[in-house]
Amino acid sequence: MKTLKIAIQKSGRLNEKSVELLKNCGLSFENYKSSLISPVSNFPLEILFLRDDDIPEYVQDGIADLGIVGENVINETEVEVAYLQKLGFGKCSLKLAIPNKGGIEALADLNGKSIATSYPVILRKFLEQNGVAAEIRTISGSVEISPGLGLSDAICDLVSTGGTLKSNGLIPFADVMHSEAVLIGRKGIEEDPLTIELIQRVQSVLRAKE
Ligand code: ATP
Ligand code: ZN
Repeated sequence: MKTLKIAIQKSGRLNEKSVELLKNCGLSFENYKSSLISPVSNFPLEILFLRDDDIPEYVQDGIADLGIVGENVINETEVEVAYLQKLGFGKCSLKLAIPNKGGIEALADLNGKSIATSYPVILRKFLEQNGVAAEIRTISGSVEISPGLGLSDAICDLVSTGGTLKSNGLIPFADVMHSEAVLIGRKGIEEDPLTIELIQRVQSVLRAKE
């Protein structure tokens, strides 16, 4: 019988909840932190532990059949995958934020300004849709310190509680997108019987939590 592969985050904000969800689906596997692949002993499935950024492309290219990843990462990588199920964890928002003493009051005030972000693709589309011409500075981490360093006038970053923004003297100003973890699959996998079985198990775990 064919074995499915599901990619989940190796470590980070989505790892624990992804593992918990799969275990609650009745899947039995070792959660080795050191290995890339863990076989499931009671279902024809293998678990691949990857960096979250790599998951959408791995699924699109069929290296994994399924994946659990934030919608923010999917949108940023612009892949063609099937959305199978929202999972209700990893909730956050991609927000524009400005320094406290900014003089920026409306989106239009961002014209001619610079915005630091790790999500240039999503931000570019948002600015285009809103007719704002701002310069996007792509940086891979610690985006929230860039206005304080004089590297940008504003930032666009993921926020859940807002604590990090506040402690850097930043005020959230507009929502660019809301995100949560989703189960994705390569195109066509939604018709596979094993995938259908797995989605049903996921849905009953989610229903039990309501
Ligand atoms: P990796 O090492 O796998 O690349 P990472 O550092 O890019 O990890 P994490 O910080 O672990 O990623 O975040 C993973 C996902 O968790 C995010 O892409 C997002 O969907 C979600 N998330 C939920 N809340 C937050 C938050 N406050 N900040 C950042 N991401 C969050
Ligand atoms: Zn990442």
